[in-house]
Amino acid sequence: MSLKYEVKTSNKLGRYLVAAKDLRAGERILSDQPFVLGPNSDTSLVCFNCYLPLISKFLVCKNCGLAPICPGDGCPEHSAKWHNQHECDFFRNLKLNKGTSPMTMVQNVGSLLVLRALLKQNNNPLEWKIFLELESHLDRRRESSVWEYYDNTVKFIQSLGLLENGQNQDLVQQICAAIDVNSFEVRGPPIPAIGCAEVLRGVYLQAALLAHDCVANTHMSINDNNVLVCHASTDIKKGEPIYYNYTDPLKGTVVRQQHLMIGKYFQCTCSRCSDITEMDTFMSSAICPSCKTGYMSKAGESWICRSCKKESEHSVIGHKVQCCSDKLEVINKKDEKELEEYIKYVSLVLAPNHYLLLDAKQRLAGVLRDIINREPRPTKKVMRRKIELCKELLPVLETLSPGICRIKAITLYELHATIVQLAKKLFDAREITASVFVDELLSAEIHLKLALEMLVIEPGNSPEGELCAKALEEYRALKLTIAKVLDSIHAEGKVYEITEISEQVTLHPEID
Ligand SMILES: [Zn+2]
Ligand SMILES: [Zn+2]
Ligand SMILES: [Zn+2]
Ligand SMILES: [Zn+2]
Repeated sequence: MSLKYEVKTSNKLGRYLVAAKDLRAGERILSDQPFVLGPNSDTSLVCFNCYLPLISKFLVCKNCGLAPICPGDGCPEHSAKWHNQHECDFFRNLKLNKGTSPMTMVQNVGSLLVLRALLKQNNNPLEWKIFLELESHLDRRRESSVWEYYDNTVKFIQSLGLLENGQNQDLVQQICAAIDVNSFEVRGPPIPAIGCAEVLRGVYLQAALLAHDCVANTHMSINDNNVLVCHASTDIKKGEPIYYNYTDPLKGTVVRQQHLMIGKYFQCTCSRCSDITEMDTFMSSAICPSCKTGYMSKAGESWICRSCKKESEHSVIGHKVQCCSDKLEVINKKDEKELEEYIKYVSLVLAPNHYLLLDAKQRLAGVLRDIINREPRPTKKVMRRKIELCKELLPVLETLSPGICRIKAITLYELHATIVQLAKKLFDAREITASVFVDELLSAEIHLKLALEMLVIEPGNSPEGELCAKALEEYRALKLTIAKVLDSIHAEGKVYEITEISEQVTLHPEID
């Protein structure tokens, strides 16, 4: 298979990837094994072999006598085995020659990832060389508190005698930096009986070269075997850069930029960041106090209304927005009433798609989903509200994450589910005719089909992959229900005519 991308270099982006041919939405661009993968620097103790948390007790690897590992029956059968022979032999020598104790490893579990990267120097020199070429922004970090933060790691690595002649602590700092700047979050192995997982981080040498843009054209997933797969989320023309969004697309520009500056050391100048309206979503804007209908966005040190052009000082509008942000921090975000009240209050101040409002609306949709799934007879009001919230969220997502997008897929799935539930309830109560019932089911089918077209590229063993399997079952059941209702309409001698098909099917992913 010829490569779908080429590596280019520019002053602005450094090394980055461009499409080597026209790529279609849903097409796989690359898949990548982790160079290193392991716990975060602030982790509590995990098994060195499978990364499951070691809560109260642990064993030490029989062969090296150093690595803490799962007690009892040992690591789960199908888990990845990260404590490999090379490392085990290295640890054994440490124990024999330096008298290193297992407690040293226990106390330095936060430095395990750095240690494992450094061991690649002899273990896999080719990948090690590529890793060292990754962006690390070492000079900017030298002045900052992270440099000091990693002092313990430097001391730990030095104490193991791992630095070769001529190598100094800068090398350790560079490894820490390259991991911080280039790693992806990876779901750890599921904790037995609890199900949830630690968040690990992994460095992927191909994917690390993807440039950032706040409106990405890729979709990333990492499967249970820790392989990263990158798909095109929209069509990408030959020669166009391939972008990944390192930030949350549902946050405003200031928040995204802070996140990028702290974690990745750069100021984003993408088209969304350079547009005060954030592509006409007004995601960081407030309602203009003068005309009351226009939206004010921050331009430099003041705020300006797009409609009446009136300007306002930052202290005035900025303070209001900050109050809305502070309020969201303190309310109970699992309580329907508190969220509704917050939305009502904040809608008087912020533009309708402000990220704080969207945050509250997303949370409320989640609370309502739980109510609908839990209650034996959820009310029509709750269902209608959830449908409304999903419909409000979708156009914003389409603008900011065009094409395939995980949150969009889940929102479409949720929208379909509630439309079906509500329509069934209304039909059973004879509040709608069979014909209207079919209309509703057909509109739900369109949402579900769109969701499925996106979910199909998710790894089967991920929560989204499981949702895909469930959605597929529901799709088949929905088709059957529609056919049955249509039959009953025809049996009564009536003819069903489509009255409303409003959605556009815009995706055409390749199933691979
Ligand atoms: Zn284990
Ligand atoms: Zn061992
Ligand atoms: Zn940006
Ligand atoms: Zn105005």
